[in-house]
Amino acid sequence: MADVIPFDQRDGSLWYDGRLVPWKDAKTHVLTHGLHYGSSVFEGQRIYGGTIYKLKEHTQRLFKSAETLGMTIPFTQDQINQACIEAAEVQNIKDGYLRPVAFRGSEMMAVSAQNTTIHVAIACWPWPSYFSPAEKLKGIRLDIARYRRPAADTAPVHAKAAGLYMICTICKHEAEAKGYADALMFDYRGYVAEATGANVFFVQEGVLHTPIPDCFLNGLTRQSVIAIAKARGVKVVERHIEPEEMKDFSECFLTGSAAEVTPVSEIGPYRFKPGTLTETLMNAYADEVRGAAKVSA
Ligand code: PMP
Repeated sequence: MADVIPFDQRDGSLWYDGRLVPWKDAKTHVLTHGLHYGSSVFEGQRIYGGTIYKLKEHTQRLFKSAETLGMTIPFTQDQINQACIEAAEVQNIKDGYLRPVAFRGSEMMAVSAQNTTIHVAIACWPWPSYFSPAEKLKGIRLDIARYRRPAADTAPVHAKAAGLYMICTICKHEAEAKGYADALMFDYRGYVAEATGANVFFVQEGVLHTPIPDCFLNGLTRQSVIAIAKARGVKVVERHIEPEEMKDFSECFLTGSAAEVTPVSEIGPYRFKPGTLTETLMNAYADEVRGAAKVSA
């Protein structure tokens, strides 16, 4: 990806600790607790036609994730909603991606970090599609990840916390090195869980099957797609799914704010053919995000 401008070298401004600052000046010290100990939570949401989809829900999740890590964000949710709007407006981005992040600062540098400042930054940039359009239509290929999603008594699994992505990056890199687009992770029990940054759905005889999000994020896109499917009379079954069951599913797709609805053609030894239901939900989700009411803070 040689043509990607490094993220610290972009033009414009971003929101940092209560004000807009020049993008290239939005720096933090190397002795930052969030960097050393993973005391960092973040969000990722898309803006479509000038409207941030599910803005309030993303901000709520950011606050919930921070609270789970014992971090008090020094702003109100309304202020963060407004800051997201400003971060998009200042870059003049109508279609793109927003990344709010909250992390512990540098006042203490050890496991204990009660007195650190909680910093918040929000940046917005253009991001057409997580996977390339050509890849999307034929379905992406997934490897099977070496690491598993941990149990709810092993890690704060419902927080969108930076630390939980350590295993995702390792698995995604391994998958990419083998020519796959992403990797499917099982959970600590061996059930199908999710991809490294998106939830997973399967189709069997017109019915949607998706894992119960009891040890990973119940994605906002997942919730949208379930609601869209149900509104169309499609039956949705949330249940534990054994890996071997994947041989009986005809279609498969991923959901996520970045991934949107992305058809899958292959997971390890299992094959799927992106079909009518996947395509219908992909288009219905595209309509839904563009028709969303503008959230004003
Ligand atoms: N699981 C993981 C690990 C993710 O990173 C994401 C993306 N935030 C999701 C699921 C999907 O969540 P959402 O639909 O809320 O973006």
